[in-house]
Amino acid sequence: MSEQQGFDLVLAGGTVLDPASGLNQRSDVAITGSKIAAIGVDLPRDGAQVIDCSGSTVVPGLVEGHSHIFEQVSKVGAPADEAHLRRGVVAVADAGTAGASTFDAFRRLVVDGNAMRVTNFLNVSVLGLIDFRFGELLNPETLVVDDALATAAANPDVVRGFKIRLSEDVVGEHWQMLLKKSVDLAEQAGLPLMVHIGETEEPVPTVLEHLRAGDIVAHCYTGKPNGILEDGKVFAEVMAARERGVLFDSAHGKSNLSFVVAKQAIEQGFLPDILSSDTSARNWHGPVFDLVTSISKLHALGAPLDECIRRATIVPAELLGLDKEGYGRLEVGGRANVTVLTETSEVVLPDASGNTITAPRFEPTTVLHDGALVETVAWRGGQSA
Ligand SMILES: [Zn+2]
Repeated sequence: MSEQQGFDLVLAGGTVLDPASGLNQRSDVAITGSKIAAIGVDLPRDGAQVIDCSGSTVVPGLVEGHSHIFEQVSKVGAPADEAHLRRGVVAVADAGTAGASTFDAFRRLVVDGNAMRVTNFLNVSVLGLIDFRFGELLNPETLVVDDALATAAANPDVVRGFKIRLSEDVVGEHWQMLLKKSVDLAEQAGLPLMVHIGETEEPVPTVLEHLRAGDIVAHCYTGKPNGILEDGKVFAEVMAARERGVLFDSAHGKSNLSFVVAKQAIEQGFLPDILSSDTSARNWHGPVFDLVTSISKLHALGAPLDECIRRATIVPAELLGLDKEGYGRLEVGGRANVTVLTETSEVVLPDASGNTITAPRFEPTTVLHDGALVETVAWRGGQSA
């Protein structure tokens, strides 16, 4: 910045928390155009728009590692920008809503049709997840390896992995054959496989035997049968899988976050690698609401805030290859994607298993998308404690 020309905008006096850059201190963040121009204490404000962030936490624009946003085609699709960008998320991965046969529509409607950066885990079934009432792999012939590989190869900017939902009502009795085929195809494409657990036919350790370093287990805090706990303890096989590089994704969803499971796991030091909401049309008006509410819940259960933010910014950004595009961190000269989180008074927050906690939650009070102020929307919950 030259001395003659001030910043466009200064986010003033917040606690800047960026795990990727190791920042956790009171600072101003100055923006010029679409870039971060400076980060520091008492930056000059002459001529700049100033937003007072004192008492708030200034974090990189959030990256959602697991969502369902194929609104016009899938019954589970939530509106992408409405449910994410306007609640502080600047980049997202759709987790298997589109399959090879619906991908072109996904690209046109969701990837091109929203301001956010959209990537996906392509469903291994060509059908994708159109309607949760009908498992997309009940007919195992819908896993067409060549179609999945061709779609991934033709769309490397979007397809960053594959997804298989392994619940019994999706895969029937063929789970093992379908999982093996899915791992093989992911291997051929050089991409990770995300595996949805909760109500799998076999316990998690049996599923984990099939997974490679970099593959992802979604719904790690599910309260459904065959989760990560055995008699209240995280399975040794789960710890061993993490040790060899298998990743775990919290993916709240309509039915896959149990505060009881999450609390026990967090107490044992088992945080998710990726903190995601699994937002969908079935849950964005509750119990999930949005990613910041999922962060609020795990933080309330004992996960340190910096660890939560890491898992909703730089970790998913790296997993999705979006760090190379400047997502997931705050740095001078980098994209001005910034979310300002302000803690509210206590509210009642539900999980997906019928439990509630009373805790403060974070509200994205200011959201910048490539330097532009996003028109945020109010929280969709609203029950005060
Ligand atoms: Zn999901």
